Amino acid sequence: MDLKKFVTIVPDWPKPGIQFKDITTLMDNGDAYRYATDQIVEYARDKEVDLIVGPEARGFIIGCPVAYSLGVGFAPVRKEGKLPREVARVEYGLEYGKDVLTIHRDAIKPGQRVLITDDLLATGGTIEATIKLVEELGGVVAGIAFLIELSYLDGRSKLDGFDILTLMKY
Ligand code: 5GP
Repeated sequence: MDLKKFVTIVPDWPKPGIQFKDITTLMDNGDAYRYATDQIVEYARDKEVDLIVGPEARGFIIGCPVAYSLGVGFAPVRKEGKLPREVARVEYGLEYGKDVLTIHRDAIKPGQRVLITDDLLATGGTIEATIKLVEELGGVVAGIAFLIELSYLDGRSKLDGFDILTLMKY
Protein backbone atom coordinates (compact mmCIF):
# COMPACT_ATOMS: atom_id res chain seq x y z
CA MET A 1 0.00 0.00 0.00
CA ASP A 2 1.26 3.49 -0.84
CA LEU A 3 0.91 5.11 2.58
CA LYS A 4 1.98 8.52 1.31
CA LYS A 5 -1.42 8.80 -0.37
CA PHE A 6 -2.93 9.05 3.12
CA VAL A 7 -0.61 11.76 4.47
CA THR A 8 -1.83 15.34 3.97
CA ILE A 9 0.87 17.92 3.45
CA VAL A 10 -0.15 21.21 5.02
CA PRO A 11 1.89 24.15 3.72
CA ASP A 12 3.08 26.85 6.11
CA TRP A 13 1.84 25.16 9.29
CA PRO A 14 2.49 25.74 12.16
CA LYS A 15 4.87 28.37 10.79
CA PRO A 16 5.62 29.83 7.35
CA GLY A 17 8.00 27.57 5.42
CA ILE A 18 7.06 24.33 7.25
CA GLN A 19 5.39 21.61 5.17
CA PHE A 20 3.58 19.81 7.99
CA LYS A 21 2.92 16.10 7.45
CA ASP A 22 -0.58 15.53 8.82
CA ILE A 23 -1.04 11.85 9.67
CA THR A 24 -4.63 12.18 10.92
CA THR A 25 -5.82 11.34 7.39
CA LEU A 26 -3.87 8.07 7.63
CA MET A 27 -5.23 7.25 11.08
CA ASP A 28 -8.85 7.86 10.17
CA ASN A 29 -8.63 5.36 7.33
CA GLY A 30 -9.03 1.89 8.83
CA ASP A 31 -7.14 0.05 6.08
CA ALA A 32 -4.20 2.44 6.06
CA TYR A 33 -3.93 2.60 9.86
CA ARG A 34 -4.01 -1.18 10.13
CA TYR A 35 -1.51 -1.63 7.29
CA ALA A 36 0.95 0.81 8.90
CA THR A 37 0.50 -0.85 12.30
CA ASP A 38 1.06 -4.31 10.80
CA GLN A 39 4.30 -3.19 9.13
CA ILE A 40 5.67 -2.13 12.51
CA VAL A 41 4.42 -5.30 14.19
CA GLU A 42 6.22 -7.41 11.56
CA TYR A 43 9.41 -5.40 12.07
CA ALA A 44 9.19 -5.95 15.84
CA ARG A 45 8.26 -9.62 15.77
CA ASP A 46 11.78 -11.11 15.88
CA LYS A 47 13.14 -8.49 18.28
CA GLU A 48 11.79 -10.07 21.47
CA VAL A 49 10.22 -6.81 22.52
CA ASP A 50 8.91 -6.62 26.10
CA LEU A 51 7.47 -3.11 26.03
CA ILE A 52 6.58 -0.26 23.68
CA VAL A 53 7.54 3.29 24.68
CA GLY A 54 6.29 6.35 22.80
CA PRO A 55 6.42 10.12 23.35
CA GLU A 56 3.22 12.13 23.54
CA ALA A 57 1.05 12.47 21.71
CA ARG A 58 1.42 10.86 18.33
CA GLY A 59 3.85 8.24 19.64
CA PHE A 60 0.84 6.84 21.52
CA ILE A 61 -1.24 6.60 18.36
CA ILE A 62 1.46 4.54 16.66
CA GLY A 63 2.63 2.55 19.66
CA CYS A 64 -0.59 1.44 21.33
CA PRO A 65 -1.99 -0.70 18.49
CA VAL A 66 1.46 -2.23 18.03
CA ALA A 67 1.60 -3.09 21.76
CA TYR A 68 -1.87 -4.62 21.59
CA SER A 69 -0.98 -6.69 18.55
CA LEU A 70 2.29 -7.96 20.07
CA GLY A 71 0.63 -8.62 23.42
CA VAL A 72 3.07 -6.38 25.31
CA GLY A 73 2.60 -3.25 27.39
CA PHE A 74 2.91 0.42 26.50
CA ALA A 75 4.63 3.09 28.61
CA PRO A 76 4.00 6.77 27.84
CA VAL A 77 6.71 9.43 27.70
CA ARG A 78 5.15 12.77 28.60
CA LYS A 79 5.94 16.44 28.98
CA GLU A 80 6.86 17.63 32.45
CA GLY A 81 4.08 17.69 35.05
CA LYS A 82 1.77 15.19 33.38
CA LEU A 83 2.75 11.92 35.07
CA PRO A 84 1.52 11.53 38.65
CA ARG A 85 4.30 9.47 40.26
CA GLU A 86 8.10 9.54 40.49
CA VAL A 87 9.67 10.19 37.09
CA ALA A 88 12.97 10.15 35.29
CA ARG A 89 13.38 13.40 33.34
CA VAL A 90 15.51 14.64 30.49
CA GLU A 91 15.91 18.10 28.98
CA TYR A 92 16.33 18.39 25.27
CA GLY A 93 16.92 21.23 22.87
CA LEU A 94 14.27 22.68 20.61
CA GLU A 95 14.83 25.15 17.80
CA TYR A 96 14.18 27.91 20.33
CA GLY A 97 14.72 26.97 23.97
CA LYS A 98 14.32 23.59 25.57
CA ASP A 99 11.70 21.14 26.66
CA VAL A 100 11.49 18.28 29.16
CA LEU A 101 10.30 14.71 28.72
CA THR A 102 9.52 12.34 31.59
CA ILE A 103 8.68 8.69 32.19
CA HIS A 104 7.54 6.90 35.32
CA ARG A 105 10.60 5.45 37.06
CA ASP A 106 8.98 2.03 37.42
CA ALA A 107 7.71 1.85 33.83
CA ILE A 108 10.70 -0.17 32.62
CA LYS A 109 12.43 -3.03 34.42
CA PRO A 110 16.21 -3.32 33.92
CA GLY A 111 16.99 -5.49 30.92
CA GLN A 112 13.58 -5.13 29.28
CA ARG A 113 13.72 -4.85 25.51
CA VAL A 114 11.94 -1.72 24.32
CA LEU A 115 10.55 -0.70 20.95
CA ILE A 116 10.26 3.09 20.68
CA THR A 117 7.54 4.48 18.40
CA ASP A 118 6.70 7.93 17.06
CA ASP A 119 4.94 9.30 14.03
CA LEU A 120 7.80 11.26 12.57
CA LEU A 121 11.59 11.61 12.72
CA ALA A 122 12.63 15.21 12.07
CA THR A 123 15.81 16.45 13.80
CA GLY A 124 15.82 13.40 16.09
CA GLY A 125 15.79 15.42 19.32
CA THR A 126 12.58 13.90 20.67
CA ILE A 127 13.71 10.33 20.12
CA GLU A 128 17.24 10.99 21.37
CA ALA A 129 15.67 12.22 24.63
CA THR A 130 13.34 9.20 24.73
CA ILE A 131 16.31 6.84 24.29
CA LYS A 132 18.05 8.53 27.23
CA LEU A 133 15.01 7.90 29.44
CA VAL A 134 14.76 4.24 28.40
CA GLU A 135 18.47 3.64 28.99
CA GLU A 136 18.49 5.51 32.30
CA LEU A 137 15.91 3.02 33.58
CA GLY A 138 17.99 0.08 32.36
CA GLY A 139 15.93 -0.69 29.25
CA VAL A 140 17.52 -1.93 26.05
CA VAL A 141 16.39 -0.18 22.85
CA ALA A 142 15.57 -3.10 20.54
CA GLY A 143 14.31 -0.88 17.72
CA ILE A 144 12.76 2.45 16.81
CA ALA A 145 9.82 2.72 14.41
CA PHE A 146 8.36 5.79 12.72
CA LEU A 147 5.74 6.31 10.09
CA ILE A 148 7.71 9.14 8.49
CA GLU A 149 11.34 10.22 8.20
CA LEU A 150 12.25 13.70 6.99
CA SER A 151 15.56 12.60 5.45
CA TYR A 152 16.68 16.17 4.70
CA LEU A 153 16.84 16.95 8.45
CA ASP A 154 19.17 13.98 9.04
CA GLY A 155 17.72 12.94 12.40
CA ARG A 156 19.31 9.53 11.80
CA SER A 157 22.74 10.96 12.56
CA LYS A 158 21.60 11.37 16.20
CA LEU A 159 20.46 7.72 16.29
CA ASP A 160 23.67 6.10 15.12
CA GLY A 161 23.90 2.41 16.02
CA PHE A 162 20.16 1.96 16.61
CA ASP A 163 17.91 -0.26 14.52
CA ILE A 164 15.41 2.05 12.79
CA LEU A 165 12.30 1.43 10.67
CA THR A 166 10.62 4.24 8.75
CA LEU A 167 7.62 3.50 6.55
CA MET A 168 7.80 6.69 4.46
CA LYS A 169 10.64 9.06 3.57
CA TYR A 170 10.43 12.66 2.39
P1 5GP B 1 12.25 15.99 16.17
O1 5GP B 1 12.40 15.95 17.64
O2 5GP B 1 12.72 14.74 15.48
O3 5GP B 1 12.85 17.23 15.55
O4 5GP B 1 10.70 16.17 15.85
C1 5GP B 1 9.84 15.09 15.86
C2 5GP B 1 8.64 15.37 16.68
O5 5GP B 1 7.94 16.50 16.21
C3 5GP B 1 7.69 14.19 16.60
O6 5GP B 1 7.25 13.84 17.91
C4 5GP B 1 6.55 14.66 15.73
O7 5GP B 1 5.30 14.30 16.27
C5 5GP B 1 6.68 16.17 15.67
N1 5GP B 1 6.67 16.68 14.27
C6 5GP B 1 7.57 17.52 13.72
N2 5GP B 1 7.23 17.80 12.45
C7 5GP B 1 6.11 17.12 12.18
C8 5GP B 1 5.28 16.98 11.00
O8 5GP B 1 5.51 17.55 9.92
N3 5GP B 1 4.21 16.16 11.11
C9 5GP B 1 3.93 15.51 12.27
N4 5GP B 1 2.86 14.69 12.26
N5 5GP B 1 4.69 15.61 13.38
C10 5GP B 1 5.75 16.41 13.34
